Amino acid sequence: MKKNVRVFLTITLLLVFGCRQSTKEEGKTRQVLEKSIYRDSAPKQKKAPAVKLKSLAGLRDTAFVRLADYSDQFVYDLRYATTNNFLKAQVYDCAECYTRVKTAKALIKANEAFLKKGYRIKFFDCYRPNSVQYKMWKIVPNPQYVANPKKGSIHNKGGAVDITLVTLEGKKVDMGTDFDFFGKKAYHDNLDLPQDILDHRKLLKETMEEYGFWSIRTEWWHYNLAAASNDKVVDFKWKCD
Ligand SMILES: [Zn+2]
Repeated sequence: MKKNVRVFLTITLLLVFGCRQSTKEEGKTRQVLEKSIYRDSAPKQKKAPAVKLKSLAGLRDTAFVRLADYSDQFVYDLRYATTNNFLKAQVYDCAECYTRVKTAKALIKANEAFLKKGYRIKFFDCYRPNSVQYKMWKIVPNPQYVANPKKGSIHNKGGAVDITLVTLEGKKVDMGTDFDFFGKKAYHDNLDLPQDILDHRKLLKETMEEYGFWSIRTEWWHYNLAAASNDKVVDFKWKCD
């Protein structure tokens, strides 16, 4: 009888201890994953990605979505939510990446192609409310660097993104210049660059084009979704905590 009680107690203790260990392990894995996704993020970036990802199925193509709710495979370094940009000013209250549903769908597909090759997309900027475009124009009222807010840009339509590639572990992939470097070195048709940089830019451009985006000659990081060109400029604003 006594022996049975002892066996029962031992089994119970083992079960309880085992469960606590596995919860601890899961917590640790989640922390590591969150850290790796947001490693390059701005300080104000919301930390935790949605635990359970949502589905884009059934949503209107022109609706706005927060990309991190639909994929945890992207990296974010949203520069305009910091002062680390050519304006030297923070123009977003918090770092978020929103796009239209059709843009999000194309980005997720393009990213899947990059993942197969050992890379993932890192965002510098996504949808930009028209009022933020006015803020930027006030700081730099020069159409060479900032789109005139009266006309707006495809960023204001939720169809443009500024991106680069990083490795699966989040390491930098050399594109020759930083984001928002204005000069010949950032041009797609500047072939006077080391071969590995040309190869990285080519991979980015060809893959993005395959999934419905087009590039502009002077900025290797900027991509427009062709299907968004005729959408309206809007001023939808996301909430910050
Ligand atoms: Zn851009």
